[in-house]
Amino acid sequence: MFLWLIIFMIISSVVQNSVRKSMDRGHRIPEGTGMTGAQAAEAVLEKKGVSGIVVEEGRFDHYDPREKAIRLSPENFRNSSVTAVAVALHEAGHALQHAEESASLKVRTAFVPVASLGSSMAGPLLLFGIFTGAMNLVWLGIIGFAFAVVFHIVTLPVEFDASNRALTMAEGYGFLKSPEEMRAGRKVLGSAALTYVVAALIALVQLIHWIGIARR
Ligand SMILES: [Zn+2]
Repeated sequence: MFLWLIIFMIISSVVQNSVRKSMDRGHRIPEGTGMTGAQAAEAVLEKKGVSGIVVEEGRFDHYDPREKAIRLSPENFRNSSVTAVAVALHEAGHALQHAEESASLKVRTAFVPVASLGSSMAGPLLLFGIFTGAMNLVWLGIIGFAFAVVFHIVTLPVEFDASNRALTMAEGYGFLKSPEEMRAGRKVLGSAALTYVVAALIALVQLIHWIGIARR
């Protein structure tokens, strides 16, 4: 089972490396409209008729549903490139999911507190349970970890949907016009989506690993 973990860790670093590469490549390709990531996000929100969402510079790219804020890293906020626009449209996709009260986003948001409690409790419970031989604690730790795994899995449809929305908006609203831009944009979003798949697989393998230990 540890062998599987090592294999997945290697796959994970390969995928992260390919994300970085496609992001870097996309940063070097100018985006046809000349808009920065921030302008592109604002433009699609306006076209979709969604108001009350701020687009601001942050440390990393994400959508914050509590503050209704799209935050873009300085590179994506200020620059006009395929990567900046693709990432900005993906985050705008999350804002649209929120505005439309998408069921998959609701499920994911509902899992956040359970999953963070579960994953922070799992480690200590598993260690303490195994050292003292208290199997009840081990199984409790496994249940906590299972919540974190479910969170990884319910994240997938939310991320895939945001990227699909980004590509549809790019086509519909005249972003990423040339075939080269579109290809690079797909690569940026596709490789980013793959990191979520790998994270979910690693978590699942770890869960199976712990269940295997507990049953012995
Ligand atoms: Zn996302």
